Amino acid sequence: MSSKPVEHCDPETSSSAPDGGESADVRVPVLFPTPLPKAYDYLMASPPPHPGTFVMADFGGRLRHGIIWAGSSDAARPGVDPSKLKRIDHVVDAPGLSPEILDFVAWVAGYTMAPLGAVLRLVMRTGGALTPPAGRMSYTLSPGGSGHMSNLTPARKAVLRVASEMSANVRDLAAAAAVGEGVVRGLIKEGALIGQLVDPDPPFDQPRLDLPGKKLSDAQAAAAAQLRAHVREGGGPLLVDGVTGSGKTEVYLEAAAEALRKDSSAQLLILIPEIALTLPFLRRVAERFGAEPAAWHSELGDAARRRVWRRVADGNARIVVGARSALFLPFKNLRLIVVDEEHENAYKQEDGVVYHGRDLAVARGAKAGFPVLLVSATPSLETVVNVDQGRYALVRLSSRFGAAVLPEISLIDLRKTPPEKGAWLSPPLVEAVSDRLGRSEQTLLFLNRRGYAPLTICRKCGERMKSPHSDTWLVEHRFENRLVCHHTGFSMPKPASCPSCKAVDSLAPCGPGVERVMEEAVTRWPDARIELLSSDTAPTAGEMRGVLDRMGAGEIDILVATQMVAKGHHFPNLTCVGVVDADMGLSGGDLRAGERTFQLLSQVAGRAGREARAGIALLQTHQPQAPVLQALANADRDAFLVAEAEGRARAGFPPYGRLAAVILRSPDEQRLKQSAEAHRKALFAAEGIEVMGPAPAPLYRLRGEMRMRFLIKSRREVHIQRFLAEWLGGVKLPNKVRRRVDIDPYSFL
Ligand code: ADP
Repeated sequence: MSSKPVEHCDPETSSSAPDGGESADVRVPVLFPTPLPKAYDYLMASPPPHPGTFVMADFGGRLRHGIIWAGSSDAARPGVDPSKLKRIDHVVDAPGLSPEILDFVAWVAGYTMAPLGAVLRLVMRTGGALTPPAGRMSYTLSPGGSGHMSNLTPARKAVLRVASEMSANVRDLAAAAAVGEGVVRGLIKEGALIGQLVDPDPPFDQPRLDLPGKKLSDAQAAAAAQLRAHVREGGGPLLVDGVTGSGKTEVYLEAAAEALRKDSSAQLLILIPEIALTLPFLRRVAERFGAEPAAWHSELGDAARRRVWRRVADGNARIVVGARSALFLPFKNLRLIVVDEEHENAYKQEDGVVYHGRDLAVARGAKAGFPVLLVSATPSLETVVNVDQGRYALVRLSSRFGAAVLPEISLIDLRKTPPEKGAWLSPPLVEAVSDRLGRSEQTLLFLNRRGYAPLTICRKCGERMKSPHSDTWLVEHRFENRLVCHHTGFSMPKPASCPSCKAVDSLAPCGPGVERVMEEAVTRWPDARIELLSSDTAPTAGEMRGVLDRMGAGEIDILVATQMVAKGHHFPNLTCVGVVDADMGLSGGDLRAGERTFQLLSQVAGRAGREARAGIALLQTHQPQAPVLQALANADRDAFLVAEAEGRARAGFPPYGRLAAVILRSPDEQRLKQSAEAHRKALFAAEGIEVMGPAPAPLYRLRGEMRMRFLIKSRREVHIQRFLAEWLGGVKLPNKVRRRVDIDPYSFL
């Protein structure tokens, strides 16, 4: 009879060696990268390997990779008959996970309420990293060359010529010399070419610490000195609060250098929010340290991914630049994390294990005792409050580097100077753009809305075009002549007649998207070089890079773009930013709507005038009195943050209180409602906790499923996860109903 793995309890010596001989087996807990909450017990020969060691074990009838776990919160469960346990004989020959990572995995699972195994999966997601291919042979000209050979055919000569310039495998050499592989093999056999085994995952060059870096301004040098001291002394989290263009990157790279200097095996991680920033950023780091850092993001191929994973695990990759998921790389000795643009929502992971990259970075640093630098020109309220309350240190950079000054931000009151009928750019904005064109300077027209028009409506019957299985509007994409749902990806050709009243040619676009602004710009300025940038026109990082590089090189006069362009980019000749609809985020309604609008618009405005020529930003609005817009126009960020903080404190919202969301979803509406009711009934009163809901989610129908939400608010000192575990643990989920817990939600849809 085949035995089953059993849930883990405390490791203990089993009685499988009754004679007390050397082969005593011990019980070891093994955790698998699957969405299960616990480790399982197995038997291994004594002494067992350290926790964190990778093993292969039979799990559910299949051999799987797992790790020896350090312990389990379930240790109190009664032991299971050791004779039923399976044995593990296969230990994987790869560096194991450090105690620090095991600790981090356990902490993340507890904090996010995700199953332990699901968090481990984030660490082990790199298929093949534990079973790398064997090295391959690479051939080049042998020292003796072909001197000893008399019969050199033209084909052989061609190979020898190629091999004198490169080292490659048989196939590539043959291809480069345009001959058959047999010719190359013949030369190897006769000793004219020699081979060498090449590691499939070559090591990264080591960063050089003797390079001076850029010459810093006085303000930058002072900030860099503070950061170096912070790193030397092993300080905790620190906010680098510097205006756009102040040179924050140059300054924090000095902190990075200090961390590498302090500990010769130290590794560091720089998180960036946007994949298109990776390439220029890698170049900057490479310039500073004379060696290319390791990059980690979603567009890496399998081989590159495996190389980074393995080289991070063995400690060779000292500097990693990556997206939020890089937090789960198996660092051997991580000593510093930098979170660039720390306020960015892109750090929030919304699927699977739901987490915020910035918060996890801070937690990881705190647990392992290393500094975490949070960097931004528009820091999140959470971070600002942590600074105010003394939990985080602060370094400020309050002016732009060199001769550059911050752009002047002005509001255009659309009630007083509206655009002409059918247009979206008001006369003052049109004039400013024309003026820049006359001076050969660049303009950015910003609208955070993809497509041509956000809504399509029938002029005859008023029908609004909706997504079939969701409560979402279809957005017209005119270049493709399709209607697209931005939430689900559903799309259809734009119909010639109204699906409801059948009127022909009655469907009219409502409101502008970037494509429509582009259309207007091309009509107004027919001689200008105008390009459009959105995730539709540049779906890959490479295509996006192309547009950004052209903009940087001055080959574009007017760039019409969505928020893809807001983050971190540096365009020397851009002096005018026009925000087509500054009111867009104001009515969002969620607790961070104002803050997000402020951050986005100041980041976009911050693209203007980053070098010698001063820049302006013009914000078109119907609500010029809105506090967010007033704060932008008056360059008064701090007053805005104070007002925001007061509002949040009054409502008990983060960071003054805690929030969590529980979202139930199902294709079966009746079951969903019953389950929501069962959840409501299972609620109990708890000190300092308030539960709102169940309420239909604002996006009630999505991809054919219905969704109900609970919002849980607690005082800051309350352990909200403990409450959730007790509450949710008492409710059985019926078939077809799924539940998601989101600690500190950012999306309320
Ligand atoms: P931030 O991240 O604060 O917006 P960056 O670090 O990107 O600013 O710097 C803005 C621009 O100024 C970049 O092109 C950068 O190379 C340049 N820069 C900043 N500091 C220096 C310096 N000390 N010497 C030369 N160039 C600098």
